[in-house]
Amino acid sequence: NTEITKEWLQSYVDDWVQFYKKETKEGKVASYIPVLKKADPNLLGITIIGKDGMNIQSGDVDTPFTIQSISKIFSFIVACMERGVSYVLDRVDVEPTGEAFNSIMHLEMRKLKKPFNPFINAGAITVTSLLNGKSSEEKLEPIFQLFTKILGYRPCINEDVYVSERETSVRNRAIGYYLIELGYLESALELTLDTYFKQCSIEVTTEDLAKLGLVLANDGIDPQTAEEIIPRNVVRLAKALMLTCGMYDASGKFAAYVGIPAKSGVSGGIIATAPPRVRKETLPFIEGCGIGVYGPALDDKGNSIAGIKLLKHIATKWDLSVF
Ligand code: GLN
Repeated sequence: NTEITKEWLQSYVDDWVQFYKKETKEGKVASYIPVLKKADPNLLGITIIGKDGMNIQSGDVDTPFTIQSISKIFSFIVACMERGVSYVLDRVDVEPTGEAFNSIMHLEMRKLKKPFNPFINAGAITVTSLLNGKSSEEKLEPIFQLFTKILGYRPCINEDVYVSERETSVRNRAIGYYLIELGYLESALELTLDTYFKQCSIEVTTEDLAKLGLVLANDGIDPQTAEEIIPRNVVRLAKALMLTCGMYDASGKFAAYVGIPAKSGVSGGIIATAPPRVRKETLPFIEGCGIGVYGPALDDKGNSIAGIKLLKHIATKWDLSVF
């Protein structure tokens, strides 16, 4: 039983980031938003932050990227905090679809029912419409405040990605019009979509995702200050959604083979949370850690191809599965 030190964990992670970097060659960067095509497909980086402040960083951790679909966790959390959980869940369900994130199919199938979950675009756009505020700035302010509190700085919106996203938004517009017809949009379409594109274009790093993941991992409490930042019942819901719907239509496989709440975005980011208690005595540093990964080359489901493999490796070796 070798003693596990932080130095050992760092060199372990370094080795596996180098190993899985090769896998980036098998994937492709997202191209449906033109600006995202500019990302370097060879990048792979990870940050792991523990309850005691342990901070392991490896690979390409200095390149910022847009948060994209990972923002859907935080718009959902803020909507629940502003409007109450039952109000939000009356308007969006908590069921996985097994379809792509921007699928319209399920909306039509459930004509008179609500969008399946807050992490597919139909559900996310509905949730964004529930946020309080008369402008996108007002709607997004509580999300920025939450981020500022957890990250220690106020992140920016990447204007190029936002504009590119807005200009190529036909499918999200189609979803939006459909939601109007079904009566789910609580704010005007333009305002709602504009807010949604901006929330997706918030720029973060793997360290930011790890810090956000750390708070989710620890039931909404920042372990450094012991302050409750997000109510526990809301975090529990968010993590259940991450586990069942967080990795698009690969969520089942991710739950089976990795087994931790996680959420990916189309720019190649993944946020993941370790369970607050792990079973192996040998890994005390890892309990309740937050993990941020970046690898813009995606697999055919739209998840970071090397990022998933790296997470799977670490979660298996360190016995992180919640099951
Ligand atoms: N901006 C993206 C969209 O709605 C977010 C998608 C994602 O990260 N999967 O098209």
